Amino acid sequence: MVYNDAVAARRHAFAEGLAFPSTAALSKQLITEAKRTPKRSWLAEVSAVVLQQSLADCDRAYRNFFASLKGARRGPRMGPPKFKRRTGTQSIRFTRNARFAVLHSGRLRLPKVGDLRVAWSRELPSEPSSVTIVKSPTGKYFASFVVAVEDGSQELEPLADPEAETGVDLGLKDFAVLRGGKSIDNPRFFRRLERKLRREQRALSRKMKGSANRAKARLEVAKVHEKIRHTRSDWIDKQVLDIIRENQAVYVEGLCVTGLSRGRAAKSMYDAAFGMFLARLESKTARTGRTFARVDRFFPSTRLCSECGALTGPTGLEGLKVRKWSCGCGAHHDRDANAEVNIRREGRRLAMERERFAAGLAEN
Ligand SMILES: [Zn+2]
Repeated sequence: MVYNDAVAARRHAFAEGLAFPSTAALSKQLITEAKRTPKRSWLAEVSAVVLQQSLADCDRAYRNFFASLKGARRGPRMGPPKFKRRTGTQSIRFTRNARFAVLHSGRLRLPKVGDLRVAWSRELPSEPSSVTIVKSPTGKYFASFVVAVEDGSQELEPLADPEAETGVDLGLKDFAVLRGGKSIDNPRFFRRLERKLRREQRALSRKMKGSANRAKARLEVAKVHEKIRHTRSDWIDKQVLDIIRENQAVYVEGLCVTGLSRGRAAKSMYDAAFGMFLARLESKTARTGRTFARVDRFFPSTRLCSECGALTGPTGLEGLKVRKWSCGCGAHHDRDANAEVNIRREGRRLAMERERFAAGLAEN
């Protein structure tokens, strides 16, 4: 892999105290010259633009890392680029320069590959600027295109209430609870696919190392993983869209340990779903001009009584089972609905604070 070769070359240069190799130098060394060696001769069969892309990706990873070191980049500190692990998934990206084309016949023309038949999942809204071909562990190929589209807010109907807002309390019983105790139920496929995954994993563990049956069983496990990913992704997109359709502002909790009472397989599945759900919610709100805020992960949204502000709610491992509770002030709470109120309040406070800060910056 050209990407890994580039990381290796730069690490080597650093260890030896040499100058940081430029992308041009790496291109010459890792592509042009490497093609003549037996180990890397296959590079000649790959479109040159794609190889350059790997170097450009590596370059960007290093630039982000250096910017992060200098504090010029927002977000958490980044480590130096790592070797990309060989996973079951392989991908390759073609940009415009690589001269890929969508033909009138509906086929996709790729340089040095040929004209491929495509099962289109939707129509392309405009000329794509790049295409990534992904080979999944199950041997299926997927093409995903980057296309410029109009601002996403235009595809949405105007809000019934332009000031509608909601908190999002991720839960154990329900997937999430929204304003007014409205809940997003856990989808049934979570449990069903999780059981299927466990079954296939058990079958795999019984097969002999290196046997053909083991390879077949491994493929079955990969198929279930793929199915989980796709089903989860579609389902999450739908939930995110529903929330955005109804709310101008969305406030979420910082992700914390919610999976305590679940088994390990289930826990990782829910955690992955929560993480993806929050990330997509955040990016979708940004694209549609909605307000978004994430409260601190240590904010006691469950413990806080939303009536009087005392920390009288359930806490600790035992508290996970408590669905309803009463505060000394006389208020009776549903656990999740109360948490949603607190998240919404705190989120609104954060969003207003941010707005004031931005306004202050604009004035100075
Ligand atoms: Zn109270």
